[in-house]
Amino acid sequence: MIKWSFSGLKEYVNCPKQYHEVKILQNFTKKVTEQMLYGTEVHKALEDYVRDGTPLAKNYEQFQPMIDAILEAPGTRYAELKMALTAEKQPCAFDAPDYWVRGIVDLLIINGDTAYIVDYKTGSAKYPDPKQLKLMALMVFAFYPEVQFIKAGLLFVMYGVFIDEQYHRHDQDKLWNTFATDLARLHNSHEANVWPANPTPLCGWCPVQNCEFHGRRGRRF
Ligand code: SF4
Repeated sequence: MIKWSFSGLKEYVNCPKQYHEVKILQNFTKKVTEQMLYGTEVHKALEDYVRDGTPLAKNYEQFQPMIDAILEAPGTRYAELKMALTAEKQPCAFDAPDYWVRGIVDLLIINGDTAYIVDYKTGSAKYPDPKQLKLMALMVFAFYPEVQFIKAGLLFVMYGVFIDEQYHRHDQDKLWNTFATDLARLHNSHEANVWPANPTPLCGWCPVQNCEFHGRRGRRF
């Protein structure tokens, strides 16, 4: 059984070779960028604010009206909720040995048969990828059998942009299907131990030094 997460699967799709070298073989480590550190700090500040009411630091106060508007939704709140499912798509502990897929919801509000999912983004809102919301929604449907409807959104805190989607419990098969092709490719790579390189202009920032495309910045391939 191949364990996965949304970000791991995305990394595989972006470049199977990088995924294999970095994530599986751990031959190379991705550099932690300033943007990544900033994202981690913002997530922690918002988590503390939502969970404990810890005031936001001055440089994050601009986010408060957006978060407060979301927190007006009634229901039980969960900040940075960790969830995992077995291969049978049943809920399990996040660190269960037999977990299949797992993820963390930045903010979840459960109100009877309705749930709200919010994922904070600190990057650009230019190319939103709501696929992550689909996986989070599937996990919420598994963990909370009473939930029938989910309103989910990517909140780009720097730009005040909210990209939202809505799901119904009867959408689950369709939602799982959105991951089927990528998961089949990942499975085939493991089976055949074949991890093709997928060169892009981002190769210039890739840590995989033994790749023929390493260091090629901004080139057209
Ligand atoms: S240099 Fe480019 S093609 Fe090679 S592993 Fe890295 S991302 Fe993939």
